[in-house]
Amino acid sequence: MTETELTEPSNEEGEFLPSISDFFLRTPLYQVFNVNSGNAKQIQSIENFNSTLDAYCIYCREQSIFHNTTVYRYGSGKLDAESVLRDKVFTVKMACSRNGSHTIHFFFRIYEKAISKIGQYPSIADFHFSDIEKYRSILGSEKYKELARAHGLSTHGVGIGAYVYLRRIFESLIEEAHQIALIDSNWDEENFSNARMEEKIHSLKFHLPKFLVLCKANLLVNIVIE
Ligand SMILES: [Zn+2]
Repeated sequence: MTETELTEPSNEEGEFLPSISDFFLRTPLYQVFNVNSGNAKQIQSIENFNSTLDAYCIYCREQSIFHNTTVYRYGSGKLDAESVLRDKVFTVKMACSRNGSHTIHFFFRIYEKAISKIGQYPSIADFHFSDIEKYRSILGSEKYKELARAHGLSTHGVGIGAYVYLRRIFESLIEEAHQIALIDSNWDEENFSNARMEEKIHSLKFHLPKFLVLCKANLLVNIVIE
């Protein structure tokens, strides 16, 4: 039997796979993608990843460039489709360009012509920690912890769990702002307590963090009202 080089055109239509960096950094664990000779080349480039990955380093606490330090099993990098798609578990280990001991690890499984990511360190949420870090000083440590939990849940596809934490953060921000507003002698408490949530937020706009009022007003209203 002659082996088909991956460089040869294939007639098979491969299932659409996430981009390599998405697969490493954003695709949830256990999401399954079918593989065949049509997308075997992409699978090969995950297994023998020879590019760099731009990702948040949890040790440097900033964005960094990672390069693959996995010891390749296949020296030539030219795998036939059959070997690439064979049932197996493989690891990709990368190191931070600032410090070689800052390593990140990914585990993939190919089973019955389907690939999934079955493990990783750090977690997806950890990789995207920098997205929420900027809210730490605004929210304070307790609410920030809840935001981090919401973030973790949403990156694992548990949107409903994330929603509960977000709702709690927003309600407590509104109540804090309300308590400050009460000190104002011109504050109309009766009007406030009968107002719709959108109006409440509007009347508290000078006491709420600006990013909530300006950018997330609709989101905030939706979350608190629902
Ligand atoms: Zn680092």
